[in-house]
Amino acid sequence: MSYINENFLNMQDSYLFSTIAKKVAKYTEENPDKKIIKLGIGDVTKPIVPACIAAMHKAVDEIGTQEGFKGYGPEQGYEFLRNAIVENDYKARGIDIKADEIFVSDGAKCDCGNIVDIFAEDNKVAITDPVYPVYLDTNVMSGRSGKYNKEKDMYENIVYLPVTAENNFKPELPKEKVDMIYLCFPNNPTGTVLTKEDLKVWVDYAKENNSIILYDAAYEAFITEEDIPHSIYEVEGAKDVAIEFKSFSKTAGFTGVRCAYVVIPHTVKGYTKAGEEIELNKLWNRRTCTKFNGVSYVVQRAAEATYSEEGKKQIRANIESYLENAKIIKNGLEDAGFTTYGGVNSPYIWLQVPKDMTSWEFFDKLLEEVNVVGTPGSGFGPHGEGYFRLTAFGTKENSIEAIERIKNWKVN
Ligand code: PLP
Repeated sequence: MSYINENFLNMQDSYLFSTIAKKVAKYTEENPDKKIIKLGIGDVTKPIVPACIAAMHKAVDEIGTQEGFKGYGPEQGYEFLRNAIVENDYKARGIDIKADEIFVSDGAKCDCGNIVDIFAEDNKVAITDPVYPVYLDTNVMSGRSGKYNKEKDMYENIVYLPVTAENNFKPELPKEKVDMIYLCFPNNPTGTVLTKEDLKVWVDYAKENNSIILYDAAYEAFITEEDIPHSIYEVEGAKDVAIEFKSFSKTAGFTGVRCAYVVIPHTVKGYTKAGEEIELNKLWNRRTCTKFNGVSYVVQRAAEATYSEEGKKQIRANIESYLENAKIIKNGLEDAGFTTYGGVNSPYIWLQVPKDMTSWEFFDKLLEEVNVVGTPGSGFGPHGEGYFRLTAFGTKENSIEAIERIKNWKVN
């Protein structure tokens, strides 16, 4: 008899994007003459910049020669990339991170999901809500969530930290003691951010309670405001309590190329039941060497090229253009009378749907009456109800046209 991991039976099926796709397909079939504008996707659309393409071509030619051939690389990533990350993402911001505290991977999704391997099953987990669903789902799979409560759409052992207009999208410290805290800023889906001061509260909490902060900064490159930290390590004390996840996906359009990294400073410690302090870096290194054989050389050269002078300029231009779309969408929605959040340090604009509507009802109306597709907030967690996400990853023309249609629309 082979028994299954029954935690998987405790997972709720996610119908969010498949339901959206089905609704759009049905509407398109019934209304073939209508031009639908999709502002629902969380994927980039601009091609990989020339500096990265050139680096990949060069690396491809190199591995086709006897001298340049590469077999298995270091599981943690090549030194050239780890050093480039240290120099550009940390040293340049006055943060002291060592190359052996960086682990290069094939995506922040895998990293955020796999990190649960090194933590005990009985840790209490806190997750901001609404948020990127991977943190919750991977804790359900690994047995930390407790039972699902259908009525509340919540798991009984998870501490949900609401981020809503009521608290200005700043999660409040939990009343009970928690061991693992997931924070994602700039946030997906709300597009909102925390200042250094806001984050300091969490770092202090983690220090006091011997908790670990799992900080997802996948959208860091979209930060435009001065006092918003690009890394949690800009906050004093964070190097003792935080693991940071970063990705080249949204920064450099690598959603298909695949490259990311995790930072685990040697000073971040977990505990055995006997009270012994253990470096999490060591555990993650052991896990990485056992379960992962590294990111391809060609891809790591492309990631390195994002830090070249040319690369930096080119990826900055792409981000600026997504941010310009975000401004068009946000300002347009405000002009049309909607209350919006995010969109300034993020490609995501989070809008409040009219009070008498659910986020799915708003989705249907927007699709049917102005042919614009977005994502209902309730798909990102119970506290997402009443909100709706639009993204700036479309073209400028489509962003403008979608907003023109919304401005000329009477939602009620
Ligand atoms: N973290 C957040 C908050 C995301 O929204 C996403 C993707 O949408 C990821 C991580 C995934 O990143 P990657 O493409 O590196 O796996």
